[in-house]
Amino acid sequence: MIQASELYRLQEIDLSVHQHHKRLEEIAAQLADNKALTEAQQKVTSDQQALTPLQTKVRKLEQDIQTNTAKLKETDENLYSGRVRNPKELQDMQQEIQSLKKRNQELEDVLLETMMSVDTADAALKDSTANLETLRAQFELANKGLIDEQKRLKAEGSALLKSREQLLPSIEANTMKVYNNLRGRKNYQPVAVLVNQSCSVCRVQQDLHVIQAVRKGDSLTYCSSCGRILIYRTG
Ligand SMILES: [Zn+2]
Repeated sequence: MIQASELYRLQEIDLSVHQHHKRLEEIAAQLADNKALTEAQQKVTSDQQALTPLQTKVRKLEQDIQTNTAKLKETDENLYSGRVRNPKELQDMQQEIQSLKKRNQELEDVLLETMMSVDTADAALKDSTANLETLRAQFELANKGLIDEQKRLKAEGSALLKSREQLLPSIEANTMKVYNNLRGRKNYQPVAVLVNQSCSVCRVQQDLHVIQAVRKGDSLTYCSSCGRILIYRTG
């Protein structure tokens, strides 16, 4: 006697297990795929790396200007102190003042330029940081859904496998062998139901002797067209 209902139930479980498995693979791939996030993080790092040396350069320039200015003030005071009377020395001092002023102007120009670069780099870093935060929030939100789904699918999968184990003893070994053999070739659907004298999968109408054999259910009977195990279900 063929255990038609059990066989059909087994197929339903196996189809469901297969779908769960496929979806779990998709989720795993999606969770691993955080390219956008990685790129956003890299952008923040590179923006930070561009900004830091510019900030260092500004501090160095400010120090140089400060040192120069102090030297300029000192030389200037010396010049007008009246302590130095040697004309050559006085001339040298005037020349040094000129040269210090010129140098300071150059430093100020570079400083201004560098500060503008700092502003640009700082704005870029703020942008990339904001972008990273947005992407991270989005990713975590998306992942929350995926992780919840993953948990649910895994729990359902275990329950399905349990049902499968409970079902297996009620199906004959030979029938099981045929089922497993057809499964791979029939797109995970080795069992079809006789509906109005036709196969529920390929829809081909069956000959009377096939219909009789299926309804009797004494032995495995196959759809004359697609070759699936044909069963008759009363309920
Ligand atoms: Zn068929």
